[in-house]
Amino acid sequence: MKFLLALVALLMLIAAPACSISVTSSTAGSAGGATAHGTYSLANDASLVSDVTLGGGALSRQSASAGPGMIAEGVSSGSGSVSRTVAADGSLSYAASDDASGAAVSSGMQASLSGSAGIFSAVSSGAENEMTVAGGFLGEGGDMSVSLTSVAADQAMTTGEAFALGTQCLNGELTQGIAGQDAAVSVHALYVSDDKNIGEFGVVAQNAKGGATAKPAPSEPSYKLTGYRWSRNPQIVITVSSIDLPSSISAGDVKSQITSAEISWDTVAAEALFGNVAEASDGFNRDFGKYGTRDYKNVHMWTTDTRLSDSTIAMTITWYTRSKIVTGADGKLYSQAVESDCWYNDRLSWRIDQDEGNKASSFDIRTIALHELGHTLGLKDLYDSSNTDQIMYGYNDGTSRWTLGSGDIAGIQKLYGAP
Ligand SMILES: [Zn+2]
Repeated sequence: MKFLLALVALLMLIAAPACSISVTSSTAGSAGGATAHGTYSLANDASLVSDVTLGGGALSRQSASAGPGMIAEGVSSGSGSVSRTVAADGSLSYAASDDASGAAVSSGMQASLSGSAGIFSAVSSGAENEMTVAGGFLGEGGDMSVSLTSVAADQAMTTGEAFALGTQCLNGELTQGIAGQDAAVSVHALYVSDDKNIGEFGVVAQNAKGGATAKPAPSEPSYKLTGYRWSRNPQIVITVSSIDLPSSISAGDVKSQITSAEISWDTVAAEALFGNVAEASDGFNRDFGKYGTRDYKNVHMWTTDTRLSDSTIAMTITWYTRSKIVTGADGKLYSQAVESDCWYNDRLSWRIDQDEGNKASSFDIRTIALHELGHTLGLKDLYDSSNTDQIMYGYNDGTSRWTLGSGDIAGIQKLYGAP
């Protein structure tokens, strides 16, 4: 969640809104009371409509801004509450409705965000658990649309869909995959914008039993940790698809490029991170690389699935336990990653670049694999311009980069030790 918090801070600096409005409304009916709250910062042709129906428990709001905006609002009633945040530095439109009856709260939201940075989050809290769904994008020409439904009674649940640049990065399969469990899933994707600058988007969904609040993972300037790592000496086996490969590139080529990327990470860690790359047939890949399926197989595959938009390069989906059950080399407890799949966009051009540092109108497999495997191992993207030497830097101009930076190494050694 640190990723998202950092983005919120960034946006608040960028937005510097023209006006800010705070609203608190309360109802107290025979079936119990409900409290709605909201803070709105909207600039440039902004509009805000807020309807509060007392007694019936129904609340609806619509907001839109042609300029930077930020909305944080929610509703609480009895044992349940739902809170939401959306912000963008370009423009946003937002509609939400809440229904509070008895002790339960149910709410829906639709939001569209655009600009160079945007975030959304929905947190539903019930007596037995707390579920968070959050995401964002960073990169010029970005856009995101979100449709979420939250219910908070004894059991809290948030489900829905999110699209970034036309790529579906959240769907019901992912949120259902952690429903009723102490579990989490994250999606990270690289995308390329029209001007060839590469940005990033991501989504995290986590379900915390016992209503525990997520605590941001510690971070230092040149690396950021996701909060998960694998079991000790995991020897993660990546299985490469042998079908739908980029033209003129064989499965053997792909295996050797991913193996090279794995070795880069393995040589700077004390633990044995990766096992030998495997190659698999059609049926295996289609079953185990399937989106939204937690099957404990790690598949790298090229796909034309329309959940990857034309501008999306690759996407990594990692499943991990919500509970902190594995100790890192730094002595701290981490969630345990259990599966990580990577999709590469088969509608884009790919290359194997023997000349490290070469730029081309295609993507070097080893460069992208090195970055995506960093997510698999537990590292987040970096956006500060002081971090351009790190593989986990969230922007790239198409250059081949095969060398880990000092921050990449420091981060991986926090988790897996120094050799
Ligand atoms: Zn990334």
